Amino acid sequence: MSGGRVWAAVAGLGAALALLWYLARTDAPPREVPYSVAYGWLRDGRVISVELLPDHLSGRLAAPALVDGEAVTTFATALPARDDGLMPLLHNRYLELRVENVPTGLVGVLASLAPWLLVAAGWWWLRRARGLPGGRLPGGLSRKARRFDRTTTTPTRFADVAGLGAAKRDLEEIVTFLKEPDRVGRLGAKVPRGVLLAGPPGTGKTLIARAVAGEAGVPFLSITGSEFIELFVGVGAARVRELFADAKAAAPAIVFIDELDAVGRVRGAGLGGGHDEREQTLDQLLAELDGFDHRDQVIVLAATNRPDVLDPALLRPGRFDRRVVIDLPELAARRDILAVHVRGKPLAASVDLGELAAMTPGFSGADLANLVNEAALHAVRERRDQIERADVSAAYDKIVLGDPRDAHLSERERRRVATHEAGHAVVAWALPGAEPLRRISILPRGMALGATEQIAEERHVTTRSELEARLAVWLGGYAAEILASGEASTGAEHDLRAAMQVAEHMVAHFGMSAALGPVYYEHHERHAFLGHRIATDGGPSDATVHAIELAARELIAQARATAAATIERHRATLDRL
Ligand code: ADP
Ligand code: MG
Ligand code: ZN
Repeated sequence: MSGGRVWAAVAGLGAALALLWYLARTDAPPREVPYSVAYGWLRDGRVISVELLPDHLSGRLAAPALVDGEAVTTFATALPARDDGLMPLLHNRYLELRVENVPTGLVGVLASLAPWLLVAAGWWWLRRARGLPGGRLPGGLSRKARRFDRTTTTPTRFADVAGLGAAKRDLEEIVTFLKEPDRVGRLGAKVPRGVLLAGPPGTGKTLIARAVAGEAGVPFLSITGSEFIELFVGVGAARVRELFADAKAAAPAIVFIDELDAVGRVRGAGLGGGHDEREQTLDQLLAELDGFDHRDQVIVLAATNRPDVLDPALLRPGRFDRRVVIDLPELAARRDILAVHVRGKPLAASVDLGELAAMTPGFSGADLANLVNEAALHAVRERRDQIERADVSAAYDKIVLGDPRDAHLSERERRRVATHEAGHAVVAWALPGAEPLRRISILPRGMALGATEQIAEERHVTTRSELEARLAVWLGGYAAEILASGEASTGAEHDLRAAMQVAEHMVAHFGMSAALGPVYYEHHERHAFLGHRIATDGGPSDATVHAIELAARELIAQARATAAATIERHRATLDRL
């Protein structure tokens, strides 16, 4: 194709896309209103979301309003050069500020123009985007827009956060400081400026940060770390500056930086050179943290699930010098979280939250919320008007095992799967120290063809014999297949991987190998940036790695022997199963 025809094709595609986009927009273009009218709506709390450009504001009303006899739901207005009242007003109406890279400039302009202009714009956009790595939105098109959403009229409170008692106690003093700064100041107490919430995903870090703002009745300004680094060079730093300026204007206020590790990783640690944009953003963030006056009533909360990779500069005194650890919920907390999420949902008497909490060790708050939601959805599908026990158990299976799958296994394959699962079951049942059996299934679900479920106990410490029993149960499937048919199959892959991992940990981290003794080696750690395994710097020598591998293999071999012996002893039971 000649160059001209390529461009014609691109233009045609652009036109089609632009037209589709235009047609898909169900909204009428925003109605231009005088600033005083828009301000009045904001003041009266009639606006549910606002997008802010340097000289322009557009928004959406909760309910249509009449302007010159016309119903208006979306509106736009030009901003006066200076209006100091606007920012505090936006915040005080419980509008949440999210700083986003929204291409609103484009949308706003295009929506008001005729489709033929869109054709040209679409063509131009595609042309520009083609030249950019990854087809990102060209910088000129994504004007800086700040978006405010009134997500809730009732702010999140500590009562909405179940468990996390220690974290709430730690954050209580921040609430007091924001509510009554004088009281704290009079006593000469210094309140931490930056607090780092560290914990696994879904444990309620964002939730508790919101709750601090809700308890103190102050605005909550948030941004996600990964949004910073998607931006163009220099924009991330500018965004940080803006965020803190907004916070000071709205003070007392909370700034929340989610996924802090995305910007705050140790500098120069990325393989293949540093990331300039990220470093600039991080520098700006550090400058803002240091730039606070002791009178500024702005508290910066940040969340991360990788506190270990943060740049030490972030953790220095005066910056994020306070750490609040948010852990996976234990039994009682899980019960409370479930109780929070079933609030307002009709629950049958047959559902026992305590039992459900006992079945879900290792679940995060988000997992539990998801479980309740899936159960509610299941009840809707079954046309019930209450959530029954059966709905909860279906939701649990779906989350733990995956969706039922239509895999058609031959008779021979089914026997093999049955033998494999029965092998796990027999070992789990017969071996002292193994976790008790709950049930076995050979119905294909998710990625697995069968499953053996054990009742996991709430444990903080696991002994060597318990781990050995666990290895033996994993090897039970493999051992049973060999005993019954004389050969192994691909079905054991996941069991063997899990077993190897535990065995390596037993040797390298827990001092459970006679050959190596009590040692700790960062042997194979997942590399933070590459996501795969490399030997860490200053790690063990090749000889040690070899020794670890030998010792781990020895543990697996023992586990296999135990499993095989147990199954032999209970061969009749296996066959009956
Ligand atoms: P994180 O920020 O730690 O990844 P989130 O705060 O976003 O987790 O939690 C996601 C969702 O999980 C919350 O919106 C809430 O519904 C639920 N959740 C998590 N932890 C709790 C908790 N302790 N109490 C009640 N709900 C929780
Ligand atoms: Mg979060
Ligand atoms: Zn298995």
